[in-house]
Amino acid sequence: MTNTAPLPEAAPAPRKRRPPRRVEVSRVEVLSPAMRRITLTGAELEGFAPAGPASYIKLIFPEPGQTEPTRPLPDGPRAVSMRTYTPLAVRPEVLEVDVDFVLHGEGPASTWAAQAAVGQVLFLMGPGPGYAVDTAATQHLLIADDSALPAVETILADLPASAQARVLLEVISAGEQRALNSPATLDVRWLPRGSDHRSAGQALEQALRSLPPIAPEARIYLACEAAAMRRLRQLLIDELGVERSRIVGRGYWKLDAVNHPDHDYGEDS
Ligand SMILES: Cc1cc2nc3c(=O)[nH]c(=O)nc-3n(C[C@H](O)[C@H](O)[C@H](O)COP(=O)(O)OP(=O)(O)OC[C@H]3O[C@@H](n4cnc5c(N)ncnc54)[C@H](O)[C@@H]3O)c2cc1C
Repeated sequence: MTNTAPLPEAAPAPRKRRPPRRVEVSRVEVLSPAMRRITLTGAELEGFAPAGPASYIKLIFPEPGQTEPTRPLPDGPRAVSMRTYTPLAVRPEVLEVDVDFVLHGEGPASTWAAQAAVGQVLFLMGPGPGYAVDTAATQHLLIADDSALPAVETILADLPASAQARVLLEVISAGEQRALNSPATLDVRWLPRGSDHRSAGQALEQALRSLPPIAPEARIYLACEAAAMRRLRQLLIDELGVERSRIVGRGYWKLDAVNHPDHDYGEDS
């Protein structure tokens, strides 16, 4: 008699992580009181390519007492001081990546960025995928706080000239305002919230409520503090009549939470 019992399923092959790349700070630019642009470079950036708008990288920072982070082993434990950032500009021809850091106060990433100097070393992993811009859409609404300002800039750069984008940006103070570039026609509102992070999302909510009706075909990108993102997502769906499939939500950080996980899309709300 033949044995008809199903064969045991082969275990899925473990996902191969790209090896971390050692990078050095080659430039530090003070963009505004709370934003530093840090250029990272190094021979190990060979083959690192842009991954589209709002993509992400993981950066590993030194632990207290270290001058340089330990190189993570290929399948070793995750580094404690690893955080998620946006590769704002990637220049493969000169092996450079620019990253804009919000100086929000606490945490290994923010405190490192506040003291960053040329020659300091980090490890970089990624990139991972970001936001698929619907280039056929003519109306876009981008709602973000300062942590997602770099992501918004990469999205704006990708919009076609035929598009119109309304942009609501919540920042710590009016001093954070800067020129934004895009082939599209932009209507940008900067919304200072003050340095109390507990009010995260309130200025965005007020601004959203005062907008003219949102076009039903508009594509919406919403990235900010995680609880605020959920509130704003619900506001868009329940009160402003937006079809939920038109919203891409991202919780970029969470009040009182260290290293908030980076795949928080708010679809549980
Ligand atoms: C896909 C993705 C891309 C991102 N890109 C960028 C980027 O390009 N630039 C950028 O600055 N951030 C970016 N972020 C957000 C960044 O990963 C978080 O802010 C991260 O928590 C910072 O780490 P930390 O070590 O400074 O603070 P943590 O150790 O994670 O947190 C310490 C404390 O700081 C608070 N906190 C964390 N972030 C903020 C903030 N932005 N504002 C106020 N309080 C905060 C936390 O609530 C916590 O109480 C991105 C996040 C994601 C998911």
